[in-house]
Amino acid sequence: MAIIKQPSCDDPIEPALLPVAEAMRRLSALSEVVTGTEQVATADSANRVLSKPVVSAINVPSETNSAMDGFAIQQNDIPSTGEASLRVVGEAFAGRSFNGTVQTGEAVRVFTGAVLPKGADTVVIQEHVAVDGERIAIDSEVQAGRNVRHAGEDLTVGQTVLEAGRQLTAADVGLIASIGITSVEVTRQLKVAFFSTGDEVHPLDKADTQPLPEGMVYDSNRHTLRCLLQAMHVEVIDLGIVRDTLDDTVAALRKASELADVIVSSGGISAGEADYVTQAFHEVGDVSFWKLAMRPGRPLACGKIGEATFFGLPGNPVAVMVTFLAFVQPAIKQRMGVTHTEPFAVPAVIKSSIKKSPGRTEYQRGISSLSAEGVLQVELTGKQGAGRLSSMSAANCLIVLGDDVDSVVEGDQVVVWPFAGLLS
Ligand code: AMP
Ligand code: MG
Repeated sequence: MAIIKQPSCDDPIEPALLPVAEAMRRLSALSEVVTGTEQVATADSANRVLSKPVVSAINVPSETNSAMDGFAIQQNDIPSTGEASLRVVGEAFAGRSFNGTVQTGEAVRVFTGAVLPKGADTVVIQEHVAVDGERIAIDSEVQAGRNVRHAGEDLTVGQTVLEAGRQLTAADVGLIASIGITSVEVTRQLKVAFFSTGDEVHPLDKADTQPLPEGMVYDSNRHTLRCLLQAMHVEVIDLGIVRDTLDDTVAALRKASELADVIVSSGGISAGEADYVTQAFHEVGDVSFWKLAMRPGRPLACGKIGEATFFGLPGNPVAVMVTFLAFVQPAIKQRMGVTHTEPFAVPAVIKSSIKKSPGRTEYQRGISSLSAEGVLQVELTGKQGAGRLSSMSAANCLIVLGDDVDSVVEGDQVVVWPFAGLLS
């Protein structure tokens, strides 16, 4: 008779844990792009997601122009040895062109951004020119075709400048303006409702002058979630704190599903939680409870409540942030219509050892910096407990140790997700 080994608390990895990659695949399947688009002015389009590509109707630059201050000439006038003397026949400024045509033996004084005068094909920078009244001298060092920006060199007529699924950055908005487009079609703004659960969770209220009652914790999760969601430029709907009862939880979920496209809650999903909380999630929708092969943040509930996507995050404040960044953020982006949803990941050299078993993904809080040699290095923020929000506050990145990674020692290369992006 075959002996079937029962799972035990001593197992390094529980056999039934769901790998992070599989959870991501399932979530992605749940997260269809929101229906509905709107036309927004270019000036208001930052962070919105294009539902149609942006196509240029013009060349940028629209005319060939000078990249430098200098003199526009014909390349035939560049001497093969010695010097050539040219007659200055006019001036061209940015926004004020030279009307004539540059002939052999002639030059036009040009300034950066000026349309290149007809007949000219080269700009000699002023530092390489000897000016003598109406004439200039140039030498054989001058290079044909230099210091000229050609029409359409940046963008050409008919070119797709930005693809659908792009969340617009400052550079993108400038690019759209540079081709004279005054409005763009974007996906409807996503609405995200969020709430905290727990009888012990106490609201932060400036009118409340009493000390925190015994056994209570301030509701930090709702503040963290609001900031995380606002940074994603969704419309946020704060549904407050929901007490650990079946009725309250059912009512909160029903209300949230009527108001929002995505619902995010924290707490109430660990094994051992009062049954009615998980029961409430089952009662209102099609929700699965996962035990993930990850740390922190093992439990995660997700599914559909009506048309809304639901995420039940664990209660521990660090687990809330990590599960949000790893799962909720990419899923929300996908629902917003964003094509590239993966966190930006870079390699770094670890400065201390971390003990770990393969078979689960760990997200440690790290501080990354450039070494004197110019190498990105990373160290742990200190104690990594899932309740220590201070470790998250001290961090500037997550150190992501994937399922296949064993313990790492000082000097090993690891993957980090930096918190700060330079451009948005
Ligand atoms: P739970 O997942 O509901 O068992 O909560 C796990 C831990 O997170 C408990 O210590 C809770 O007190 C704490 N916790 C739950 N919700 C919050 C919250 N909104 N803010 C801060 N801590 C919380
Ligand atoms: Mg709870």
